[in-house]
Amino acid sequence: MADLAEHIWKALGTYWSSPIPLAILFGTLACIGTLVYVFVTNARNAKLRVSLLTGLYSLSIFFWTFVVSSLTFCLSISTTVAYKAWGVPLAAGGAVLTSFVLSGIVSFVVWRRGAERLLRSIATRTPRAEEQWLVDYFSLVGRFESLPHVELRIADDPKPVAMAVSGKRHVVVVSTGLLASLERDEVESVVTHELMHIKNQDSRFKVFSTVLSRFMFFDPFSKFLDPAVHREREYLADEMSGRTTGKPGSLASALLKIHEKATGSPKAIAGLSIVGREGSVFSRFPPVRERISRLLVLSELLHRTT
Ligand SMILES: [Zn+2]
Repeated sequence: MADLAEHIWKALGTYWSSPIPLAILFGTLACIGTLVYVFVTNARNAKLRVSLLTGLYSLSIFFWTFVVSSLTFCLSISTTVAYKAWGVPLAAGGAVLTSFVLSGIVSFVVWRRGAERLLRSIATRTPRAEEQWLVDYFSLVGRFESLPHVELRIADDPKPVAMAVSGKRHVVVVSTGLLASLERDEVESVVTHELMHIKNQDSRFKVFSTVLSRFMFFDPFSKFLDPAVHREREYLADEMSGRTTGKPGSLASALLKIHEKATGSPKAIAGLSIVGREGSVFSRFPPVRERISRLLVLSELLHRTT
C-alpha cells in the first residue's frame, strides 16, 4: 500500500514537472487569456463576443478534461509514468486523445438529441386560419434569411412565450398568450428574434451549453461561460431582429410587455425563452433594461435623418 502511494506521488510529480503536459496546460491558458482580453476590450460588439465566448467555452472544456484525464492516466499507469522514459508522453497523449474523444462524443449526442427532447415536452399545434398573417410573415423572413425549413408552431398557453428550438428540425414556438398581449409589429419583431437564434445556431448551442455545463461539473469556468454565452447571443439576436424588421423599437416594447407578464415563467427552459431570470453573472438572460436601451439606440440610428 505504501509502495503504491509512493508510486502515485512520484508519478504525479514527474508528470506535472515534465515539459509536454506543462506546455499543453500553459498553451491552453495563454489562448484563454488572449480571448478574455479581446472579450473585455470589445464591450458592445455582440457578434465578436459570441464567437469569442464560444472559443473560450471549447478551450475551457478541453483544459479541464485534460486535467482530469491526466490525473486518471497518472493514477492508472503510475509505475510507468514514474519510472519509464515514455511514461509521461504516453499519459499526456492519452489525456489529449481522451479529451478530444470525450468532448466529441458528448457534444455530438447533446447537439443531436438535446433540443428534440425539449421540443417533445411542449404541447404545440399548427397555426389556425386566424394566425395565417403570422405564417405569411414568418415564411417571408425565412425566405429573406435563407431559412426555408423552419416550422412555426403555436402553444396554447396564456403566458407570453416565444422560443426557438433546433434539433433534427428547426421550430419556432409562440404562445397564444404572446399573440394576445402584443401588437402585430411587436409579434413580428419577436418572431424575427427567434428566427435569428435559428440562423445563428443559438438554440442548438444554448441547449448544448446548458447540458454540457452540468456534465462538466468539474469545470469552474463553464459556470460563468455558459450564462455569458446565452446573454451575448440574446443581444446579437435582438440587434439582428432590429436590423431586419427596421423596427427595433417594436422589439423593445414587446420585451417590456413580456417581461412584465412572464416573470417566473416555468417555460424559461434551458434559456430558450425570449426573457428569463436576469441580473447576475449566473443569469442566462441579459437585463431587459439594457436590451431595451440598446434597441432604442439602434432605432435612433436607423431612423436618423440628416
Ligand atoms: Zn432570444
